[in-house]
Amino acid sequence: MKPVVSIAHRDVISESPAEYSEESLNVIRALVAESIYAACDFDSLVRNKTVLIKPNLVRPDLGALPAITTDPRVVIAMVELTQQAGVRKVAVGENPGYGMSSQFAFRAARLRSALTELGAEVCYFDEHEVVKVENHGARIFKNVLMPKPVLDADVFINVPKMKTHMHALVTLGIKNLHGLVYDEQRMLFHRQDVNHKMVDVLRIVQPSLTVIDGIWAAEGQAPLFGNVIKDFNLVISGTDIVAADAVASAVMGIAPHEVCMIRLAEKEGLGCANLSKIDVRGKKIEEVRRNFKRPVLSSAGVFDNIICLEGGACSGCLSSLRHALDKLSFEEKLQSLDCNTIYVGKPMPNITNIDSWDGDLWLFGNCSSDLVFSQVERRTVAKLVPGCPPHILDLYRHFCDTYSL
Ligand code: SF4
Repeated sequence: MKPVVSIAHRDVISESPAEYSEESLNVIRALVAESIYAACDFDSLVRNKTVLIKPNLVRPDLGALPAITTDPRVVIAMVELTQQAGVRKVAVGENPGYGMSSQFAFRAARLRSALTELGAEVCYFDEHEVVKVENHGARIFKNVLMPKPVLDADVFINVPKMKTHMHALVTLGIKNLHGLVYDEQRMLFHRQDVNHKMVDVLRIVQPSLTVIDGIWAAEGQAPLFGNVIKDFNLVISGTDIVAADAVASAVMGIAPHEVCMIRLAEKEGLGCANLSKIDVRGKKIEEVRRNFKRPVLSSAGVFDNIICLEGGACSGCLSSLRHALDKLSFEEKLQSLDCNTIYVGKPMPNITNIDSWDGDLWLFGNCSSDLVFSQVERRTVAKLVPGCPPHILDLYRHFCDTYSL
């Protein structure tokens, strides 16, 4: 039987995820209900069960894009619908990671008090017991630390935000599972292998239902510096996470097989990414498709006052560096600087020197570390930002400290 994925859409939804009233909440309640009941027998799925709902709350920092985290109205609607269907217990859990506490994230996303008022448990994964899971079928991510509530729940419902993603091209259902990974393993396999990593996580946690929030979406340099699409107004649901991601990706104007994570998940037998083998209900893909602006990974030739030399760099360093420079540029911190040079990636074999750069020479990532010491000048010539890859904030903080930004 073909997996079912439903697309529900409204022409107009008033208000915003940050400021809303019962008016738009009622519209979204009906939209979410339409989508999930078209996708599955939702009542049978959750009745008398313990349900854990996992939104995307990575990361609702102050000043972050309003389309970066799951719309609180969608999360509220999902909790209410599980309660109306006779759930035994419903919890909402997340761990934004990268040093941000779950308590802060739920508060900043305006969800904590709303969920408590509804009688849902708020599950701070970073405060819960951690279980080490031996992931036997894994390609690379074998010993995975998992929040115990995720493993204990009868039903896991995945509620991601629809966005393009600098590193993964899109972030939808599969990528949302990264919120289950604890900080000590977040930057592990966070290079080109992040795609294998997420498929390995999917082997452990296969959601019973994925509900993709595309009410407001983000395109371009997302997740952090993309453009907000305020009028997308759709919700996509499916019990096959790969099929849901494939349909959502196609709706964004990106063929499913362009997305490595979707491709790999299908190859590993974890779902269907072939649109011709998916039963799409509700709106047709062509009726709602919009060609999202794609993220640009390279930093070469992009920024004033930065010469970026790209050697043999993988998507880990390229995306982290581009995010860091986007952040510095967005905050107008680059504009006041003299020109500096950043080298990223592995130099060609036998190349031990850079012989032409402007300003300070920065090396981004462990692959470039051999260039720190100049064999010609017999001295240290560059500042290294170590890591494989370095975190986005590493270069940002080094720049701020070095140039008093
Ligand atoms: S240090 Fe090298 S392998 Fe590691 S993320 Fe950077 S480019 Fe990729």
